[in-house]
Amino acid sequence: MEKHTVAIIGGGPGGYVAAIRLQQYGIDTVVFEKERLGGVCLNWGCIPTKTLVKIADLFSELHHVDEFGLSIKNPIYDYSKIYERKNQVVEKLVSGVEFLFKKRKIPVINEAVKILEKHGDSYLISTENLTIQASYVIIATGSKPKGLPAFKIDGENILSSKDILKLQDLPKRLTIVGGGVIGCEFASIFAQLDVEVQIVEFLPQLISTEDKEISKRLAMALKRVGIKINLNTAVESWKSVNGELRLSLSNGKEITTDKVLLSVGRDPVFDIECKNFDITKNKNAITINNDFETNEKNLFAIGDVTAKMMLAHTASKQGLLTTEIIKNRIEGINSKFDELRYENIPRCTFTNPEIGSVGLTEAQAKEKYEEILVGKFPFSANGKALGLGNVFGFVKTIAEAKSKKLVGMHIIGPQATELIAEGGIIIQSGMTIDEALKIVFAHPTLSEAVAESIEDLEKMSINSM
Ligand SMILES: Cc1cc2nc3c(=O)[nH]c(=O)nc-3n(C[C@H](O)[C@H](O)[C@H](O)COP(=O)(O)OP(=O)(O)OC[C@H]3O[C@@H](n4cnc5c(N)ncnc54)[C@H](O)[C@@H]3O)c2cc1C
Repeated sequence: MEKHTVAIIGGGPGGYVAAIRLQQYGIDTVVFEKERLGGVCLNWGCIPTKTLVKIADLFSELHHVDEFGLSIKNPIYDYSKIYERKNQVVEKLVSGVEFLFKKRKIPVINEAVKILEKHGDSYLISTENLTIQASYVIIATGSKPKGLPAFKIDGENILSSKDILKLQDLPKRLTIVGGGVIGCEFASIFAQLDVEVQIVEFLPQLISTEDKEISKRLAMALKRVGIKINLNTAVESWKSVNGELRLSLSNGKEITTDKVLLSVGRDPVFDIECKNFDITKNKNAITINNDFETNEKNLFAIGDVTAKMMLAHTASKQGLLTTEIIKNRIEGINSKFDELRYENIPRCTFTNPEIGSVGLTEAQAKEKYEEILVGKFPFSANGKALGLGNVFGFVKTIAEAKSKKLVGMHIIGPQATELIAEGGIIIQSGMTIDEALKIVFAHPTLSEAVAESIEDLEKMSINSM
C-alpha cells in the first residue's frame, strides 16, 4: 500500500495551499481532489464572480463617462464574450495551480474519497479504486449551497451560484432569494448588466453580518441601479406559468421572474464514511480545536467544512497554520501557536460600491465594551475619490474608549476591499488611536479617508466637521 506522511482531502484554497507549504517544508504529501484543484474559490466562487464584477462595473462606468468630458455612444455588451472571458480567467488560474503541483511533484489523486479509517496511529484513505496510508490527514472538503424545502435547486428555474455561472444567456428578470454576500454580489453584477433584479431577504437587513449602517448604505446603492429589495420577507412557493416563474411571498405579494438564484447560505460537505471512529460535528460542520484538530489525534479539518468563517483566505490561513503544527509534531517540537482570531480576518463584499470590514461592528463593540468611540469619514471629502468620480460611501472606525484600541473598521465605497487591509493590520496588531496615527498615509489616496476616520474617533479629522 502507498504511504504518505500527510494526506489532504480536498484541493480548494484550504487544501492546495497547505499542500504546497508542506512540500516547501519537505514533508511528503498527497492530495485527493475529485474535481479540479482550486475548489469552489477558483472554479465556481471568488475568481469567476470577481471577473464578472470587473466587467459589470466597467459597463456601468461607460454610461457615466460624460461627467469626465468623454463620450461613448450606447455602450453594449455581448454576454457570450463575457462568459468566455470568465472561463479564460478561471482556466488560467486553475491550470497555474496544476502546473505548480506538477513542478513541485505533489501527487494528486483525482478521485473522491469514500472511506477514512483509523488504523493504529495512522489513517487509511480509500477511494473506489485505491487505498493509501497517512500519518496525518487534513480534511478540506469545503461546502455546498443550501436549499429551501419549497425551492429545490434544479439548475433550470431555481439556480445555485454554480448554475448561474454556467448560464450563457442572461435572463431578462432575476429574483435572488437571500441577500447575503453572494446574493448581493450577483445582484450588483446582473443589475449593472441591465437584468431586472429583485432580492428577497428574510432578515431585516442585507448582509446581516455587516454593520447596520453599512448594510443600509448598500441597500441605498443597490436601489439606485434599479434593484428591488424585499426585506423581512420569505419566499413561500413558486410555480411555472407560460414559461414565467411566479413566486409567492410571505407578505402576500407575488413576483414574476425568469430565473431564481437561491443563495441562502452554504452547508459544510463531508460525505465520507469514518471507520473505527466517529467524527464530532456541530450541525454539519466538523468541530475543531484551536489547533484545527478534530476529536481524533493528527486528524485536522480546515476551511468551509469547519464553518468557522466561509472565506477562501480563512481556509488558506487555517491550512498554513495546520502545516506549522504538523511540521512541529514531526520534528518533535512542542510549541504553542497564537490562536487564529477569526474576528480580525477581513470580510469583503464585491458589490458596487464595495464593502470591506474587519473586527467588531458598532453593535458588537457596544455589547462587549462599556464605552466605545466611533469615527467616520465620507469619501465625498477625499480628494482622490473626487478625482475618481466615486464618492459614495465612508470609512467607519470603532475603538474601545478606555484603552483607545481600534476594534473595528467598516468601509463602503471605492476600493473598500483593498483599503480594508490597512484596518486588518491596525486591528490585528492591537494599535491604539495614537499608534495608528503614527503611520503616514500618502496623498492623494483613498487611504487618507482611513486616517481621517481614525482621527475622527477623537473628533480631530481635518477635512470634515
Ligand atoms: C459564488 C461564490 C463567491 C465567493 N466569493 C468569495 C470571495 O470573493 N472571497 C472569499 O474569500 N470567498 C469567497 N467565496 C467562498 C470561498 O469560495 C470558500 O470559502 C472557499 O472556496 C473554501 O475553501 P475550502 O478549501 O474550504 O473548500 P472548497 O473551495 O469548497 O474546496 C473543497 C474541495 O474539496 C473537494 N472534495 C470534497 N469532497 C471530496 C472528497 N470526498 N474527495 C475528494 N475531494 C473532495 C471538492 O471537489 C473541492 O474542490 C465565494 C463562494 C461562492 C460560492
